[in-house]
Amino acid sequence: MSHTINNQGEKLEVAIAGGGIAGLITAIALLKHPGVNVRIYERAKEFKEIGASIGLGPNGLRSLEALGVENALTGNVCTRQKSDWPMIFRHWKTGEVLATDVHYTVKTKKHFTARYHRAHLHQALLENLPKGIVQLNKKTINVHADPDRGVTLFFEDGSSARADICIGADGIHSNVRKTFVPDHALRWTGWVAMRATFEASRLGDLEFPEDAVHWVFLCSAFFIDGITDTHFAGKGLFTTVGGFHVDPNDPNAHGRDANWDDLGSLEEFQEYYKDWNPTVRAFIEACPSIRLFPNYAGGPLKTWSFKNRVTLVGDAAHTHGGAFAAGGSLAINDARALGLALNHVWPASSYKGEKPTAEQIANIFQVYEDTRKPHIDKILGVVHKAIAGQRASVEKGKVETDEELRQRVASRMDPWWISEHDVEEAFQKAINGGKGPETDGSRPRL
Ligand SMILES: Cc1cc2nc3c(=O)[nH]c(=O)nc-3n(C[C@H](O)[C@H](O)[C@H](O)COP(=O)(O)OP(=O)(O)OC[C@H]3O[C@@H](n4cnc5c(N)ncnc54)[C@H](O)[C@@H]3O)c2cc1C
Repeated sequence: MSHTINNQGEKLEVAIAGGGIAGLITAIALLKHPGVNVRIYERAKEFKEIGASIGLGPNGLRSLEALGVENALTGNVCTRQKSDWPMIFRHWKTGEVLATDVHYTVKTKKHFTARYHRAHLHQALLENLPKGIVQLNKKTINVHADPDRGVTLFFEDGSSARADICIGADGIHSNVRKTFVPDHALRWTGWVAMRATFEASRLGDLEFPEDAVHWVFLCSAFFIDGITDTHFAGKGLFTTVGGFHVDPNDPNAHGRDANWDDLGSLEEFQEYYKDWNPTVRAFIEACPSIRLFPNYAGGPLKTWSFKNRVTLVGDAAHTHGGAFAAGGSLAINDARALGLALNHVWPASSYKGEKPTAEQIANIFQVYEDTRKPHIDKILGVVHKAIAGQRASVEKGKVETDEELRQRVASRMDPWWISEHDVEEAFQKAINGGKGPETDGSRPRL
């Protein structure tokens, strides 16, 4: 059976594969244009709680505001640090503060890094979309694209859907990407995150930490660069993230056979942290269970658009493996950039009931890519350098001294150029042929 999209004659029909954060926010951004119809095809049978937290930086929050998604910016859905530091780094054993990240260009608390339970952010985004826009149980298997006639998405259940353009928002293992770039390789980085999200009441008399903290630990050959991240996940929930690093080239490496969201061993988790600061141990004792998230990453793509009919957003476009906890905001900024590009090439104000031409669609994708890809490729470069460094340390069995640990934290990369990246400035630069301020340049003064 073929699903024909409710084509109201002359609207641009957009099919989005994937109803995660990238898919929903892209729909919100594109529906600002009166000439656009959107359908989202999500593989899940139902939207259910995804047991993890997600952080958004000023980059993502500013775009949410620009897109009018006010309900995702309030304290009802997210928590913000009591201090103005987006992240605090504590010593694994002594608990002393080794370093803090700071915001440089943020003027209002609304744009300060915010943390969510993923399901709450997802729900807040859904509330900004027309009911019935998402079709569940529609796993995209592949896409056929004809530069002159549009696209057909083929689903696992044997059905299909036609549209003018397709946006792949189907995550890191994207089938849309695989259709057009079948040889793009994803590699296990050797890091397996162990996460728990639970009712804060389980902490009992334990003093509630006011802020998110990375407890940075002393390396050993096996457990080399772990951090545990403890913070509120909003609405009375609490989350912890730990994990372990191993050599991904070792065929017998512990964690090699772990699958995404597998149930992990609580005893193993407790064992890893048995010598840590008592505060960390108490948080770990409070975890009811633990889930495993093996980390994968891949290099930059040559292009994000295919046959002038298909483009990618979010983790489908940039397989950065969750580094810098940036994926949510990057997806939101992709959506913002695509919306800006659409309106630039095919202005809403001049829409007279006609679809954009094939040439205009190609230009929209080009402006989108010019806005986002230089920044994303730079992030991927940093991520892959860090992964290579970690791997080399594990392979050598290097044991970090306490002095080296402190030095590493002190000289860590300041992520402000990612978390405070200005997507509108990048867009202006893109449409000015690359001329404009250097968004990723030197750090502004406080
Ligand atoms: C446990 C966890 C913790 C994270 N923590 C953070 C964090 O702290 N900060 C941060 O910024 N980012 C974090 N991320 C990453 C972040 O969630 C993503 O980078 C961001 O949400 C953008 O994701 P996405 O929508 O592109 O992909 P996803 O969130 O993976 O969503 C993809 C969607 O597409 C659907 N789908 C997949 N394949 C198909 C298909 N073939 N057909 C149809 N639908 C399909 C999936 O079911 C899903 O709904 C985390 C991710 C996870 C899983």
